[in-house]
Amino acid sequence: MDDLGLSLFLRRPAELPPSLAIASLAFAFVVGSCWGSFLNVVIARVPAGISVVTPRSRCPKCGAAIAAWDNLPVLSWFLLRARCRSCKAPISPRYPMIELVIGLAGAGVVARAGWSLEALELFVLVCVLTAIAFVDLDTWTVPHPLWIALVASGLAFGVARMVTESDVDILLARVIGAGGGGLLLGAIVVAATGLFRRTGRIAADQTAMGWGDPLIVVGIGSHLGWRLLPIVILFASLQGVVVALLLRAQGGLKGEKPVSDADDWVPPAGAVPFGPFLALGALEAAFFGDVVLGWLWGLAGIGE
Ligand SMILES: [Zn+2]
Repeated sequence: MDDLGLSLFLRRPAELPPSLAIASLAFAFVVGSCWGSFLNVVIARVPAGISVVTPRSRCPKCGAAIAAWDNLPVLSWFLLRARCRSCKAPISPRYPMIELVIGLAGAGVVARAGWSLEALELFVLVCVLTAIAFVDLDTWTVPHPLWIALVASGLAFGVARMVTESDVDILLARVIGAGGGGLLLGAIVVAATGLFRRTGRIAADQTAMGWGDPLIVVGIGSHLGWRLLPIVILFASLQGVVVALLLRAQGGLKGEKPVSDADDWVPPAGAVPFGPFLALGALEAAFFGDVVLGWLWGLAGIGE
């Protein structure tokens, strides 16, 4: 493509002729779904400390290596009728679901911001938070590589956008968000632990929440900055409470789950992990937080 053609394609699809817009979104979906496929590997392997690069994917049941044509994002699950080609063991619908959602996220960030640095950061944020949410659901832990990836990518994009937009405040807001958010959540863990120990809800050597949640908030703050953090915590708490109540009403909570590594934190009976809700709240804030903030300022009668 010549210079003009490429710069045209980088624009938001809403500014393009329909055929180019569809091509742009379809390409973003395909690229996104391939990253979704990689995320499935990350979610399965990172908690176990296995390399995400080698060996190639195998059926967890029979160990047969999965050929590239059986590993196409979304499509292969349907073509294989949700079963391993070798042993016919069922394949979880979670794999194509994650590929589909991350594909749609790819199309969504390009629809919002074109093929830009902003879109790339939003996509990275969706991917890392999705990995954190599912690993937390599976294991009740946040492995170090995942929260470090969240913090490091947030600060790196902060530096990149500070330079490209010549605005020091962009990086400053993120450093304050990361530090302030981590301190706030850390203080909540310490306070809740003191309260729960005194009232006998937990033993003297246990903590009330995992330390994973403060680390996730450090990462979220490093991407979104401090302004959106109250909205993240609000959205996460509201949705977490609603889901926990719904699960309790259904009698669907089985109580304690095994924690993967030696940890002084044991999930109490009836608990749901908070990490997935922090991830959800952060994504909602990333896409819609500015609208919500503007609406809240309007309610408060403060013009911007
Ligand atoms: Zn198999």
